[in-house]
Amino acid sequence: MSTVREKSEDTYFFGHPKGLMTLFFTEMWERMSYYGMRGLLVLYMTIGVAGNPGMDWSNIQANAIYGIYAGMVYFLAVPGGWIADNILGYQRSVLIGAIIITLGHFTLAIPLEQTFILGLVFVALGTGLLKPNISSIVGQLYSQNDSRRDSGFTIFYMSINIGSMLGFAVCGWLGEKVGWHLGFGAAGIGMLLGVTQFILFRHQLGDAGKYPNKINEQTRRNYISGVGLVIFIVTFIVVSGMAGLWSIDPVYFAERFRDFLVIISVIYFIYLLFFAGLNTDEKRNVLMLLLLFIGAAAFWSGFDQSAGSLTIFTRDYVSLTFGSFIAPVSWTQFLNPLFVVMFAPFFAYLWVFLGKRNLDPNMPVKFAIGLILMAIGFIVMIFAVKFALVSSPVGVQWLLLTYLLHTFGELTLSPVGLSAFSKYSPKKYLGQMMGIWFLASSLGGVLAGLLGGEATQSGLQSMTPVFTNLVYYCLAIAGILIGLSFFIKGVSEEKEDQK
Ligand code: GLN
Repeated sequence: MSTVREKSEDTYFFGHPKGLMTLFFTEMWERMSYYGMRGLLVLYMTIGVAGNPGMDWSNIQANAIYGIYAGMVYFLAVPGGWIADNILGYQRSVLIGAIIITLGHFTLAIPLEQTFILGLVFVALGTGLLKPNISSIVGQLYSQNDSRRDSGFTIFYMSINIGSMLGFAVCGWLGEKVGWHLGFGAAGIGMLLGVTQFILFRHQLGDAGKYPNKINEQTRRNYISGVGLVIFIVTFIVVSGMAGLWSIDPVYFAERFRDFLVIISVIYFIYLLFFAGLNTDEKRNVLMLLLLFIGAAAFWSGFDQSAGSLTIFTRDYVSLTFGSFIAPVSWTQFLNPLFVVMFAPFFAYLWVFLGKRNLDPNMPVKFAIGLILMAIGFIVMIFAVKFALVSSPVGVQWLLLTYLLHTFGELTLSPVGLSAFSKYSPKKYLGQMMGIWFLASSLGGVLAGLLGGEATQSGLQSMTPVFTNLVYYCLAIAGILIGLSFFIKGVSEEKEDQK
């Protein structure tokens, strides 16, 4: 483990250590570039927007690529965390990750179809190195019993959403109204500002996340050779693909990637429950985290429709004309981060308020509420589709309501999940379990791409059945979570209940 700071007296940044400011702005720029580009992705791959044609790939293929990309970004967080632990240390991982992401966005800015996938590969690899590790450094700014830890993470969650607002606003406008590649380039400039900022203010982090775990030097050298070999193989696969030596159907690839994620998750949970030598309390906690994992994957599979099927619905069937102004399609994505910034303090207060009255729902129930909100959001969309079938375009209020419900769901589930995984994971497996939390986002992302493709393959007709299925399985999993929450809850939580 890297050095954990003593409880620091440093209250420079809103009562928090200086280092949080560095991480705040790095994450803000990283999310600006990630979401700014993601808002354009499916539009660019399909027919584009009025007056600005895209690559004209089919909806189903474009959604599959979006799903693979979103899934890869979070899947690569698992090896990204491992590399930081064992080879680079967190600070260097963040820096190198940020540089790779910048390269990725600038590659996407090249107006060539051939380099498009390469750009996505860079962004996904870089994000895998940056995203989990920057969150780990946040944790390391505080000692175990520093009461500012949770609010530190809340401030950090704000940076994510302020960054995405910036991204949608700037890259969305440039990409749709001026030129796709300018939008991608703007994402690159944003990330470059993030890199510069990190280099200039990195010293404020002190020793937090500076060094990798202490392991035998020979073992480390072996790890480095192993990583080198993987980089070589990946480079070979990507370059030979670019040279046209092989190709693969994105839908087929997305389906196999989904299967792979399911299999490794099942194997990992079986290992933890039966072979990891955990005591009964720890096993009960792992069982609860398994429930949360399933809930989170289902949740993100609906949530991530935002940049897939919901973006296509917005482009094709929603009126974005306000007087003489026509808003870019991706600007509707602005609503989610805006609502997060507006309502996050309210939700944080709500849990404390309910907690004081002993009414705070337990973790699986909170997840169930998140899934129910997700389902209601899609019920709203089913009505929007019905109205669009009668007369299109429909008003933007449908999206407003759906994104509001989805954001309430996110605020019920996402921060709670992060803290559940950090609190209830068996201590020995903490790092890996955080990786499992990201794996739920990964599985959600790839499922979102597959479902989004199905939903948009034949206009409005194909949306209703997919949205209906989403409603059913979100409600079904919510029901199971509520039912099991009476038997399976976090063990320390149960002990608190008995007080
Ligand atoms: N919006 C959050 C972020 O960008 C969470 C996304 C997720 O886990 N799928 O970090």
